[in-house]
Amino acid sequence: MSTFDEIKKVSVVIPVYNEEESLPQLLERTIKSCKQLEQEYELILVDDGSSDNSAKMLEEAAAIEENHVIAIILNRNYGQHSAIMAGFNQADGDLVITLDADLQNPPEEIPRLVATAEDGYDVVGTRRRNRQDSWFRKTASKMINSMITKATGRSMGDYGCMLRAYRRHIVDAMLQCHERSTFIPILANTFARRTIEIDVAHAEREYGDSKYSFLKLINLMYDLLTCLTTAPLRLLSIVGSVIAVSGFVLALLLIILRIIFGAMWAAEGVFTLFAILFMFIGAQFVAMGLLGEYIGRIYNDVRARPRYFIQKVVGVNKPNEDQEKD
Ligand code: UDP
Ligand code: MG
Repeated sequence: MSTFDEIKKVSVVIPVYNEEESLPQLLERTIKSCKQLEQEYELILVDDGSSDNSAKMLEEAAAIEENHVIAIILNRNYGQHSAIMAGFNQADGDLVITLDADLQNPPEEIPRLVATAEDGYDVVGTRRRNRQDSWFRKTASKMINSMITKATGRSMGDYGCMLRAYRRHIVDAMLQCHERSTFIPILANTFARRTIEIDVAHAEREYGDSKYSFLKLINLMYDLLTCLTTAPLRLLSIVGSVIAVSGFVLALLLIILRIIFGAMWAAEGVFTLFAILFMFIGAQFVAMGLLGEYIGRIYNDVRARPRYFIQKVVGVNKPNEDQEKD
């Protein structure tokens, strides 16, 4: 374990998007939990273009010095993972913890995450015990999780849970990645040598609704997929060839049947043919859609627009003078 540096400071990064109802409790509970740490700490709350009072509340919290809160206000909504990246950029702790703002991940688990990381892990993930989400979300997650596990060969059981801890060098590696669509837990795992997952409680969302609409969720799923691997592209060509070959064989079969049984048979076969054709067309569209997702992301990366724009940062300590560091 000697390869791991001692943790002197813990940064907690929380993306916030229209969470004004949860914020007071979130701040209180997170600060309380961080105060129990032996290490120094900072809370970095990133406002992801909220349209409610969240940004103002964050600024107010950051203005109080003993809170150790830094508020980063982005100029519009860039999505959860971009917001976290903005937070990473600001964080200077040896261990960086991410957390959702909606209190579904209990902040009380922070000390346990820190302790586990100290045992010599690059990444500490969490598994949600009796997850409190809709049936649809849970099933979708389960499918995606098992797919990821197969694709990466790593058994991380729960990628969706954002309560995670990353060592400094993992965060630095992630910051070096300039692609715009990232799924942070997976990106982190590509750089990690030793990872572990611990069980944590999961609460129901108390205030407001999930900030992920159906479309945003689909986008997140594609982010996850394209961030993970280009294997689907390869799979695409394999599936495509299989479909093409079987289509050809089928056509041949139909011609032979037509010759043997005559024109009557062929006319009735038309419908079967249509059915099969639609199937292939469907498969083609799926494949094209997947290609499109990759191309869209490539386009975004080629344009190389910044992942986010910071409008304002509140609560950063003035350089060095008031910090006694040797
Ligand atoms: N979030 C964000 N930007 C977005 C959507 C969500 O910063 O565009 C934040 C949100 O405030 C919360 C976290 O990401 O802190 C997870 O969002 P949510 O709880 O709605 O997701 P779910 O639990 O439904 O997966
Ligand atoms: Mg949530």
